[in-house]
Amino acid sequence: MLFPSAPDRQVGELKALLDRPKRIAIVTHYNPDGDAMGSSLGLAHVLNGSGHHARVVLPNTPPAFLRWMPGFNGTLALDTNKEATLSAIAECELLFCLDFNQTDRTGGLEAAVKATSTKVLIDHHQDPGPFATITFSDTSACATSQMVFDILSAMGYDDRIGRDAATCLYTGIVTDSGSFRFSSTTPHTMSVAAALMERGIDVAGVHEAISDDNRLERLKLLGFTLSERLAVIPELDTAVISLSMADLARFDLQPGDTEGFVNYGLSIRGIRLAALFIERPELVKVSLRSKGELAVDRFLRDHFNGGGHRNAAGGHSKEPLTVALERFRSLLPALIASHPA
Ligand code: 5GP
Ligand code: MN
Repeated sequence: MLFPSAPDRQVGELKALLDRPKRIAIVTHYNPDGDAMGSSLGLAHVLNGSGHHARVVLPNTPPAFLRWMPGFNGTLALDTNKEATLSAIAECELLFCLDFNQTDRTGGLEAAVKATSTKVLIDHHQDPGPFATITFSDTSACATSQMVFDILSAMGYDDRIGRDAATCLYTGIVTDSGSFRFSSTTPHTMSVAAALMERGIDVAGVHEAISDDNRLERLKLLGFTLSERLAVIPELDTAVISLSMADLARFDLQPGDTEGFVNYGLSIRGIRLAALFIERPELVKVSLRSKGELAVDRFLRDHFNGGGHRNAAGGHSKEPLTVALERFRSLLPALIASHPA
């Protein structure tokens, strides 16, 4: 199939929706990551270049390492600009929902999202909710940004994907595929990346912008975390990191600083499951990463109000940190036994 994420019926319906200039809002999930920002901004560039008035609307501001992306300055975020953000959704004729598939992932924007009548969902997570007018769902796609490329191509909008849009979509694919290393990376992913490179993007510059933007404080927090807060349970092939509010208060923490920490657990020889527990004022945030067939999304949906992908998922708990960790530890043997190495 030429465009695996873009079934003909949905493509036709979307083309019909876009047949005249519209006021469009594009919303993505809370704590937007590279794919959330890349798919949203990439789509916005193409829609704005096609005569529409499209704006990216965020539940909160992304971390600093994503704020360089072309078009970021035109975005609205609920935490910094509440009124304009909510009215952008209330006044739009068409709302795109990108990189999430349950409305509660949009945080404080949820009521506004629900109140919008025409919604187009483009997403690659499991089990999409039935809230959109048109749903593009492809759990095999490594990134929503790759789906956006496929959908635009299937609509015949190839020529409208310029350098800025390509930079955004490439960034989304790179971040969600772990720089083309996760098993979701396919030959098609590589051809999309090649097509995006042909638009003249600065590939080395993208990688530098997302990877080499650490503050020294973040590296010190990482050093502390790995030396003091990482525990390995060898008999269960598992590594667990837990950070309390007191730990975090010792460092000058900024949003996004703990991003990627969970992957260090998975880089230990023999480890198939890595967990990260972070204590926040109202809840404990849980991140899980796994290798192979060991599925963490269903586990988090069943036990930690979460979801995501088979090998990368998140959730939360309202229990105290030690209680959440204890409960996780008690559920662990059954999870590991569900897929022996
Ligand atoms: P992370 O662990 O980096 O926060 O998230 C990993 C993956 O799980 C992402 O694809 C994200 O969309 C998903 N995810 C994270 N937190 C939640 C959550 O609370 N609920 C659901 N449904 N998915 C989540
Ligand atoms: Mn994604």
